Amino acid sequence: MRISVPTIPPAIISSATSTKTISKTAAVERIAAFLAPGNVATVTGAGVSVDSGIRAYRGSKGIYLNPNYKPIFYHELVDPSDKGFAFRQRYWLRSYLGYAPVRNAQPNTTHYALAALQYTKVIEKLITQNVDGLHHKALSDVWDAATMRARILELHGSLHKVHCSRGHVYERDVFQDWLSAANPQWKAYMDDLEATGRRPRTNPDGDVVLEEGVRYDTFQVPECPTCVIENQHNSTMKPELIFFGESIKPAVKDRSYLEIEECDRLFLVGTTLATYSAFRLLRHALELKKPVLLLNVGPTRADPLPGVEKIEISTREVIRDVVRAVLGSRVKEEPVVDKMLQSGIIKPPPEDV
Ligand SMILES: [Zn+2]
Repeated sequence: MRISVPTIPPAIISSATSTKTISKTAAVERIAAFLAPGNVATVTGAGVSVDSGIRAYRGSKGIYLNPNYKPIFYHELVDPSDKGFAFRQRYWLRSYLGYAPVRNAQPNTTHYALAALQYTKVIEKLITQNVDGLHHKALSDVWDAATMRARILELHGSLHKVHCSRGHVYERDVFQDWLSAANPQWKAYMDDLEATGRRPRTNPDGDVVLEEGVRYDTFQVPECPTCVIENQHNSTMKPELIFFGESIKPAVKDRSYLEIEECDRLFLVGTTLATYSAFRLLRHALELKKPVLLLNVGPTRADPLPGVEKIEISTREVIRDVVRAVLGSRVKEEPVVDKMLQSGIIKPPPEDV
């Protein structure tokens, strides 16, 4: 299966009512009762990272926040022709400029609250559509890399790794340094942005929107050094995230299905389910008659589906109280959990407040 540009049928958006309200107390009670039996699989989307300053593709009305956003497609990025070369220059320049805010982003209160539920095994498996690594960051003090791999599945890959078309993998931080070394003029431009506190508009995949007239064709994208040593050229570098038009690896797809099959209930947070990769997990859960709870403000692709219980309230407003209600005295008994419930930033991008 391939990732296509997310769409929510216009009929859903136009028929959505925003008048459905639930009190905070009732929402906390209901979500806690849903999660308390445990063995929960959770799917998170872009909405979860907004409080960390990472822009969602869609606002609460279900429409694109940046109407001019044109994602780069997989076939464009790996195209071996000159046209593909130009695409890679554009992609890597924008990604280069947009990476620092994503790299420096900190988990927000929702990431930490979910981390408390992951750590205490109420949430057994977490599947995220996000590529920012913030679920990992929220657990980095208590989980090793193997536990992270076993308990968090990055459905659309990660911004924090890069690989060449022959399969050599590098840390994104390392590649960022190579890009700086190869492009001193752009390094200076980026340093200037940081020094003056100007921040280019950034999309959730780390891409930035450049000013009019900026030329991409001066940007140098280094070759894979391992390939060069092996005397192989024309290898292309790509972040380890799934692009629009690219297929999810079968192993990741199979694992995501299995995690739905093995859970007793599915909790969806901050996702419109506009991408089919997440939507089909919901459908799979419904086919297996698993209880499903969706916590999201605004219309979603799941809205017309019977069997989906939707609560429209800001996750930030309720999630810590939900965790306290589910865990009870364990919060105070386990300092790690207590600390998680006091951690996290709330810094949404200005337009999303
Ligand atoms: Zn290589």
